[in-house]
Amino acid sequence: MQSSVSPRLEVHLGDVTANSARLVERCAARSISVMGITKGLAGSPLLAQAMIDGGVSGLGDSGLANIDATRAGGVWASTTLIRTPSRSQIDQLAVSDLASYQSDIETLSLLSAACVVAGQRHAVMLMVELGDLRDGIMPDDVVAHARHVRDLEHLDLRGLGANFGCQSGTIPDDRSLNVLSELAATIEAELSIAVPVVSGGNSSNLDWLRLTADVGRVNELRLGEAIILGRNPSTRLPVAGLSTEAVVFVAEVLESKRKPRRPWGPTGYTAIGRAEPGASVESADQPGDENDLEWHTVLAAGHQDTDPSGLTPIDDVLLVGASSDHLIIRSRRRIAPGSEMRFLPDYGAMARAAIAPSVTMLAIP
Ligand SMILES: *Cc1c(COP(=O)(O)O)cnc(C)c1O
Repeated sequence: MQSSVSPRLEVHLGDVTANSARLVERCAARSISVMGITKGLAGSPLLAQAMIDGGVSGLGDSGLANIDATRAGGVWASTTLIRTPSRSQIDQLAVSDLASYQSDIETLSLLSAACVVAGQRHAVMLMVELGDLRDGIMPDDVVAHARHVRDLEHLDLRGLGANFGCQSGTIPDDRSLNVLSELAATIEAELSIAVPVVSGGNSSNLDWLRLTADVGRVNELRLGEAIILGRNPSTRLPVAGLSTEAVVFVAEVLESKRKPRRPWGPTGYTAIGRAEPGASVESADQPGDENDLEWHTVLAAGHQDTDPSGLTPIDDVLLVGASSDHLIIRSRRRIAPGSEMRFLPDYGAMARAAIAPSVTMLAIP
């Protein structure tokens, strides 16, 4: 029997659907809808379909190419571009049926002009900065931006969105989310337009959702990591009741030999991944003695295929290092060349593997 191609990302679609369904149910209990975020697997249509099967009410992705990939795979759903567009994307956005996140006043004007040319209306979410110092309009300027959207031709304000836990690791709480709810109310009162959607954040909002007495105006969350990996990105802890094994990274064993634990000879910078010579590897003057020996196994995947620091071996082995092309494992026993080792990837390791041409994505029903 021919073994499957590796390195590969196995995606267990049943787990993704089940995770989606549980999260949709929990959010629905607070009158919150779930947007399924597909960028973690590069817009994979099978991932998107599994999310839809689990009941998400729309899809979101940060990349137009990812959204194209989802749709080329035959999955069409109401979709939002969740990274604010660059100027070069405006014309494509204007002729699309996507909604988009926006945070720049000039970009809004350009988008409006392009929509007029295209003869199409476009729904806009204004991204509000609430402390994570990523993208977003400072709270004091949000009403002015909403007025701008109201007054521009062919644009419709769909709502406000905020984001936490990305750039600075901020954790959403009642205080920050109340700012979002109050801004929605102020826009409605001052500008006489509706703010139908208040999108409170991502998977890092799930503890807030569980603990808050009042979700305020928040009626949408955008969930990627919790659906795909079953974890809250702020705590890295599993979300209760979800599978954390929906995605597995698999690499093939190339060699397995007894080798010393420590390198020998002078050391300098490594090719990728270590900042200072000798910073985390203690080198020896001579090859180590017998007691130093244990099984050293080399796998056919490296920094070019994934983020090795985000992999957790499923077997009882230690992942001790990586080069651009290799993962290095230490173990008590020999691991046969030609066999495969399995790892649970974190979001970064998964996302890098998903866009690496060298890594195959294998969907498993
Ligand atoms: C990536 C992203 C999300 C999803 O975040 P998760 O932590 O994976 O749930 C939500 N919103 C925006 C704007 C994003 O860029």
